[in-house]
Amino acid sequence: MMQPKIEFRTVDFAYQPEVPVLTNVSFQVKAGQTIALVGANGSGKSTIAKLLAGLLEPTSGTILIDHTPLTPTNLAQLRQRIGLVFQNPDDQIVGATVAENTAFGLENRNVPRPEMQTRVHRALEQVGMWDYRDREPGLLSGGQKQRVALASALAITPEILILDEATSMLDPQAKQELNQIIQKLQEQVGLTIILITHDLEMLSLAERVIALDQQQVAFTGTASELFHEKHLLAQMQLELPFSLQVQRELAAQRVPVPDTDLNEKELIEWLT
Ligand code: ADP
Repeated sequence: MMQPKIEFRTVDFAYQPEVPVLTNVSFQVKAGQTIALVGANGSGKSTIAKLLAGLLEPTSGTILIDHTPLTPTNLAQLRQRIGLVFQNPDDQIVGATVAENTAFGLENRNVPRPEMQTRVHRALEQVGMWDYRDREPGLLSGGQKQRVALASALAITPEILILDEATSMLDPQAKQELNQIIQKLQEQVGLTIILITHDLEMLSLAERVIALDQQQVAFTGTASELFHEKHLLAQMQLELPFSLQVQRELAAQRVPVPDTDLNEKELIEWLT
């Protein structure tokens, strides 16, 4: 088996004593893999992201990146390798222009100026926002802001990219655009991606899914395996993707389904 890029070993975490958020959480993520982390609201997904990014420390247990346990002394160094994009596009705007916003993390890391310019250019190209480099980020649409936030995370050339509900405030088109960018990023050799989501449509991007329930890892497997875990899905208050719901309904009524891989629009066209 390929070496794990990330490993959680029996991690416990609580914000307040006597109120555990994570209990005995263990999982591994291989280098270059995309995993999705799912679970109900408040199940601890963001807490895992923050632990991984070194913004919080486990109450007990160990988090390893490339086999190196996160400790207070190496935290700053390991954090350099992690890019984060959060849910709210407005929380991630810092500079007066898109380019400044994208360079922000590099300035903090003392990257030399010419190198900074190269990285900002490349990152903005990757998300299709280079033409907007001189614009004021606050005036962009939610989807564009989120693409700039992603560019800022990419500019630090992360080995691990964490997208924490990054598409949940976006309209369907902006969400689709961001998903296409993520798909492109997956071709980048070695980039490990963690998609935190409660939107099961997003799982098509993930090779493996980890589901959290009752403070623990309740499931690891593929998205299609998870879609059969009805009880767990109900417990996590997660809804099956619409297209899959329709297919199941049709199958239950013994209506022949034309093609199992139809997308939502094609299914609706076929039904009407
Ligand atoms: P998710 O991302 O799955 O919605 P979170 O990791 O944000 O879940 O939260 C997990 C639990 O920890 C929730 O019960 C939440 O209320 C609690 N929590 C999150 N942040 C804090 C905090 N800063 N202080 C105290 N409790 C918190």
